[in-house]
Amino acid sequence: MHSYKIALIKGDGIGPEIVEEAVKVLDAVSFKEGFELKYEEYLLGGAAIDATGDPAPKETLEGVKKADAVLFGAIGGHKWDNLPREKRPETGLLKLRKELEVFANLRPVTVYDELVNASTLKPSVIQGVDLIVVRELIGGIYFGQPKGNDGEKAFNTMVYTKPEIVRIAKVAFETAMKRNKRVCSVDKANVLDVSQLWRDTVEEVAKEYPDVSLSHMYVDNAAMQLVRDPKQFDVILTGNLFGDILSDEASMLSGSIGLLPSASLGEKYGLFEPIHGSAPDIAGQGIANPIATIASAAMMLRFSLHEESAALRIEQAIKQALHDGYRTQDLSAFDAKEVCSTSEMGSIIANYASK
Ligand code: NAD
Repeated sequence: MHSYKIALIKGDGIGPEIVEEAVKVLDAVSFKEGFELKYEEYLLGGAAIDATGDPAPKETLEGVKKADAVLFGAIGGHKWDNLPREKRPETGLLKLRKELEVFANLRPVTVYDELVNASTLKPSVIQGVDLIVVRELIGGIYFGQPKGNDGEKAFNTMVYTKPEIVRIAKVAFETAMKRNKRVCSVDKANVLDVSQLWRDTVEEVAKEYPDVSLSHMYVDNAAMQLVRDPKQFDVILTGNLFGDILSDEASMLSGSIGLLPSASLGEKYGLFEPIHGSAPDIAGQGIANPIATIASAAMMLRFSLHEESAALRIEQAIKQALHDGYRTQDLSAFDAKEVCSTSEMGSIIANYASK
């Protein structure tokens, strides 16, 4: 039986509750599909600060590299809010992403038919939306040098090299090949030199993917088009800053932050996490929605373990649970037949996934 090593980082707040449910579902599908998952737990964020004084302990940064993939809950909470920036939980997560060199952040946005009323947009606009944002994660203006702030003048540098653009563009084209074969590259090439290089390089990469149709859009127009007609998009390819903003905008199409997963991929490693934070306001109450984390586990099976059939099994089980009217509290106002706890939702999905 094939066996994989999974590094688990439960984190803070609702992190442990939601990761536990993802493990429940993973165990159900791996048993059914005939492979084995071995878990090793690591500390990051607030839990790591409490145990070691460091938000990203060396044992975590080194240990996770021995695993086939990393499944992560969420970090942060009021208890650590007053620490200096470099000692805060969020710094631990940035260090982990940089250490694993996960340069491609993939955020699929699926609008479930059963939840079209949960979005703030009209059902006719969002029904059938199925897009994915491919965002460059470890370059661009968030990391560019020089930067500075002397109290009178402050600046950051938006920089991309050709190899950085090539590698993220390839991820977008490869992703499109497995979907509807359309890439929309988002930039600000009418103003920014860095965007012109981005556009020219994406055009070059596109020649290797003749089956994929490529379009370009300025970021201001893309922000508008995402709420005007999100169904026009298949794969959105963009840089770090624009991707940060557009992927949060796109995530709200689905109705609840508790539904959306993400994958961060590099040449060697994969990190999988829900897009939401540690939700300290509902931690420990058993009401968090575990679906985003369970769907992140499905992405882990697909992208890092190449167990496509197991990934589809989980995605189908999530759809079935929603179709049958099971809702956690965040979605209880939308066609709920039964409102269930975090753990009940995990068990229901695990049960469907093992059929
Ligand atoms: P949040 O995403 O934790 O919560 C925002 C709102 O959404 C809250 O009302 C919360 O109850 C709700 N929510 C979030 N996830 C939910 C789920 N699965 N089910 C039901 N409701 C859910 O964002 P925040 O409140 O701004 O941040 C809280 C903490 O999380 C902060 O310390 C922040 O720094 C941290 N954070 C961590 C990550 C991460 O670990 N990747 C990401 C964002 C924020």
